Amino acid sequence: MTELLHMRDNYQKSFDAKVVASGADYVTLDRTAFYPEGGGQSSDVGELSDGSRTVHVKEVRKVEGEVLHKIDGPPFAKGTSLHGEIDWNARYKCMRFHTAQHILSRYLQLNYGVETVGNSISSNESRADYSPLDSFEDEMKRNVEAGVNGLIRRNMDVEVRFMPRSEAISYLEQRGYQARYLEMVPKSVKEFRILLIGDYDAASCAGTHVANTKEIGGIQIGKSKNVGAGKRRIYFQLHSP
Ligand SMILES: [Zn+2]
Repeated sequence: MTELLHMRDNYQKSFDAKVVASGADYVTLDRTAFYPEGGGQSSDVGELSDGSRTVHVKEVRKVEGEVLHKIDGPPFAKGTSLHGEIDWNARYKCMRFHTAQHILSRYLQLNYGVETVGNSISSNESRADYSPLDSFEDEMKRNVEAGVNGLIRRNMDVEVRFMPRSEAISYLEQRGYQARYLEMVPKSVKEFRILLIGDYDAASCAGTHVANTKEIGGIQIGKSKNVGAGKRRIYFQLHSP
């Protein structure tokens, strides 16, 4: 089992680790700061080095519980000590996008009664799917954008809390946060990572987020389209802080 350093520290940019397994185009490490693709957030990219050879990490994926770092060179042998650096520019954009998506989702839930049914967070574009939401005309788009940017400007602290499964579910349900999707998490997951944005939003999420909403800057909502069964996909971009 690889220790996932990002679960407790979203600002760790580099780390030291040992190779525990390797394949033709990947290595598995005892610990990593790389975010493996999942929960709608794209994987980190970056570099791994043994001091004499540096390889590019193209993608990091969880496969049957193992975290595979896909690399563009021959694998390192088991037991090799490596230094890892994540592409911080790309990761930090994901953190800003992902935190903004939580606020956008909560805003739409509270003001329009729609739930988030999917999301895709990457460093250059992000989107989320909402249901039921058949239309998203210009006036609503402007109102949502202004509402979300007003919340971002409250400079709310973002906190991570770990809770046992049943406690996490009742915590979210009692406070009216979206909790239905938690039933889909495999029963083997005993501890949930709850992300709190000030007193505005709480959600179970393993993704990476900023420490304060002021780091997001602001969002600009772009196009949207129907993706079937009352679902609408909304795209958004970031403004600099
Ligand atoms: Zn999240």
